[in-house]
Amino acid sequence: MNLEGNRYLFEGGIDPLELCEKYDCPLYVYDTNIMKRQYKRLIDAFKVKKIKINYACKALTNLSVLKFFKRLGSGLDTVSIQEVRLGLQVGFKPEDIIYTPNCVSLEEIKMAVEYGVKINIDNISILEQFGQELKNVPVCIRINPHIMAGGSAKISVGHIDSKFGISFHQMPLVKRVVEATGLKVEGIHMHTGSDIMDSEVFLMGAEILFNTAKDFPDLQYIDFGSGFKVPYKPNDISTDIEDLGEKISARFNAFCEEYGRDLTLMFEPGKFLVSESGYFFVKVNVVKQTLSTVFAGVDSGLNHLIRPMFYNSYHRIENVSKPTAKPRIYTVVGYICETDTFGVNRKINEVQEGDILCFYNAGAYCYSMSSNYNSRFRPAEVMIFEGKDYLIRERDTMEDLVKKQVEMNFDTVEV
Ligand SMILES: *Cc1c(COP(=O)(O)O)cnc(C)c1O
Repeated sequence: MNLEGNRYLFEGGIDPLELCEKYDCPLYVYDTNIMKRQYKRLIDAFKVKKIKINYACKALTNLSVLKFFKRLGSGLDTVSIQEVRLGLQVGFKPEDIIYTPNCVSLEEIKMAVEYGVKINIDNISILEQFGQELKNVPVCIRINPHIMAGGSAKISVGHIDSKFGISFHQMPLVKRVVEATGLKVEGIHMHTGSDIMDSEVFLMGAEILFNTAKDFPDLQYIDFGSGFKVPYKPNDISTDIEDLGEKISARFNAFCEEYGRDLTLMFEPGKFLVSESGYFFVKVNVVKQTLSTVFAGVDSGLNHLIRPMFYNSYHRIENVSKPTAKPRIYTVVGYICETDTFGVNRKINEVQEGDILCFYNAGAYCYSMSSNYNSRFRPAEVMIFEGKDYLIRERDTMEDLVKKQVEMNFDTVEV
């Protein structure tokens, strides 16, 4: 979405204010142009013989988004059996889905085996059980390279005390399990966390993967996970994917030479592919002044966009109704009956009740983390494709709030 003259427009001349009229607020809008741009950037950045991008669909699981990535040629990274089923439902081939769960039961892993998807195992206990029962099914092993990366403790998953992955110090034990069971290891994987700022950190992890990989002769792929940081405001730092691509490609190609075979380089980004494609539009219900603060209270809250409250994430906020008004300082809050602050002391063009505000970077971990807290409806979702808007999820209704409930009847009994 760009400011053109005195109004904001999506590509193809779509006016966000008209979308808010047509579909009502609050509203999630996803621009497929940006998803495609990000996918192409990744594909172009890595100069290797074989590359596969698996979209980490927990970021945004709408079926139409999954279908769009399938059409681009992407695979799918899934973390639950339900995500596997969503992928299969929209037509991903099983071999284009990788299942990377954490702390799930062997039963669930066996279901994934039944579906024929790639299996990524992240602890030795399961590896051993898996090897005893299913030694003919090739697996990928998730390594924990023990590097502290990621924007906050909640999203750093590769450090020494993390619950994710098998410590690379335990590789001797892994090798013994593999030998004893006859398992075939087809992939080596790491995922160190979200919002990695520094290519060097990523490269350190990569070296550990290469070092581990050389001991497994049956590899088909090495999966470097994700964690690419995207910009949250103009001039914000972000992962320099082109620079990283050059460095990783050179190392990867050299490794394949040493290894004696061309392997597939895999990545599984969520945020990088969809974060910037998403816009969340809300309406200002109340402008309220206290002694020290001017609040803009909007028709949404932590039920629709929890990242600011949960991770302390920054989402840029603009008043799309007043592109040319003078900025003032606001604290933007939600309508949920507890503190749900979206942003403190933000410079936003002078806000009047009824104005539409836009939250940027609303593609990843926004709708997919939404809830019905306070018995509110989850918003509708709209996709922009080739200059047209398409409704890809209806807003909830009263029916949705109660449809799974089973009501007791107390009318005929004493309580
Ligand atoms: C969440 C997750 C990802 C995606 O992380 P982003 O920061 O959104 O790119 C990739 N791989 C695994 C295993 C994950 O759990």
